Amino acid sequence: MARKTNIETVDAEVWLRGLPKAELHLHLEGSITAETLVELSRRNDATPLTLEQAKKVYSYTDFPSFLMSFKAVTERLHSPEDYETITYNMLRDLAVQGVRHAEVYISVGILYYFKRLDVDAVIAAIERGRARGEREFGVSLLWIIDAVRHFGLEECARVFTKAAELKDKYPSVIGVGIGGDEARGPAQEFRELYAEAKAAGLRLTCHAGESTGPQSVWAAVNIGAERIGHALTAAQDEDLVGVLVERQIPLELNVTSNLRTGCCVALEKHPVKRYFEEGLMVTLNSDDPPFFGANLLDEYLLVHKMFEFSLEQMRELAANSVEASFLAPEKKLALLGEVERYGY
Ligand SMILES: [Zn+2]
Repeated sequence: MARKTNIETVDAEVWLRGLPKAELHLHLEGSITAETLVELSRRNDATPLTLEQAKKVYSYTDFPSFLMSFKAVTERLHSPEDYETITYNMLRDLAVQGVRHAEVYISVGILYYFKRLDVDAVIAAIERGRARGEREFGVSLLWIIDAVRHFGLEECARVFTKAAELKDKYPSVIGVGIGGDEARGPAQEFRELYAEAKAAGLRLTCHAGESTGPQSVWAAVNIGAERIGHALTAAQDEDLVGVLVERQIPLELNVTSNLRTGCCVALEKHPVKRYFEEGLMVTLNSDDPPFFGANLLDEYLLVHKMFEFSLEQMRELAANSVEASFLAPEKKLALLGEVERYGY
């Protein structure tokens, strides 16, 4: 294929920014930046937060305090309009990183459990934010309805049933997933729910192997997950790695997230390069960017610099992200073509 070949002089950051890519593991509530928090505070609070104060909400020292900080940010969402704002702002922030398509988790599990807002009104609002953002920034967006596994099967069943209903109403609702504490909500318990969701036409994702061992990834594979979120500990099990290679099950890796939460003890211990070299279907993602201090472009830069992925390998990772997406085949092909044609 003919491509301009001034690869030696290319500025990696500029090139990676322009590389068309998809983000497949991003939580809407985890995408709220300090700047957006200020915007919401101006709308909702008598004495609005300053940017300095907003930034402090994101500080944490360990995993429990990270969860507290995440909660503190989400508690600042007071209305469906706030959800519309964070969706729109998220798409704007993705566009400047060269993200062309995103599949984003919304925690309907949390919405139901804490009963603070009406789920239908929130979904209508994020759909408004999506439509406006897609139009203005050219980033397409599909929703993955996320349940909280440790809230129990009954709560998750409610969420999945709602997801099936929403899918019929909104074509952008594409799939379901389970997040939360893997240890207290093992994936195998969700076998039936996953089968029902599949029968309803929903695509299946599952957080697995982030904070517990490879057995969690096995369970996710066995209940039919089409994509695995994190899969960090899969590296500990050769047989599992073999199955993931053979079936080419896409992995939604989140390198910086794993380091910041302490799930991975050191950057050099992260299996991203090993997975790639062994032929696993690897994608890079950002999870909860403002909490971890790294957006998707930062993840691409990190992997390029610290794990010595060549730019052509980075292109392969971008192509993987499109390939592993739940986009319709014709859209997928068009975007893959753009990734392939992107020059130096
Ligand atoms: Zn996640």
